[in-house]
Amino acid sequence: MQYCKRCSSVCEDHLHRCPNCNSNKLRKALEDDYVYLQRADVYTAGRLEGLFTENGIDCRLEPYGKGRPAPLYDSEVMPTDKSVFVPFKDLQEARDLAAALYREMEADEPKEEEFEDMPRRKRILVQALSAIAFILLIMLAVFAADAAAGWLKGLFGLG
Ligand SMILES: [Zn+2]
Repeated sequence: MQYCKRCSSVCEDHLHRCPNCNSNKLRKALEDDYVYLQRADVYTAGRLEGLFTENGIDCRLEPYGKGRPAPLYDSEVMPTDKSVFVPFKDLQEARDLAAALYREMEADEPKEEEFEDMPRRKRILVQALSAIAFILLIMLAVFAADAAAGWLKGLFGLG
């Protein structure tokens, strides 16, 4: 593998330019080169750091976009995002660990149907039922008033 001195990513040996930043400052990757693993939001970067430390991988976090063109209009990128770097010798293990963490985090995420859809349907049902109950109450009041009026009229012999 080759190491790009400009963006710290690694690429295949046969390439003449870095596929990430197009730089031609490539050299053979060394075991202790810190190579760019991925971008991560602050929370994920923290979890990755903990996970790597647990597994004896010495990772480095840097603000994302440092030393590379900042994607200003990319709504996916937060200003607090981090770039995660790991030693080249641990790159494959780091990738595997990161993939496992992402799978785990996806599994943790609440399913929209269960947590969003059901209460919404329930709310609509409750609203509909209370609207019907309100109409019934009004009708009852009208009938009661009508009946009471009739009864009073009868009582005083006005009918
Ligand atoms: Zn590069």
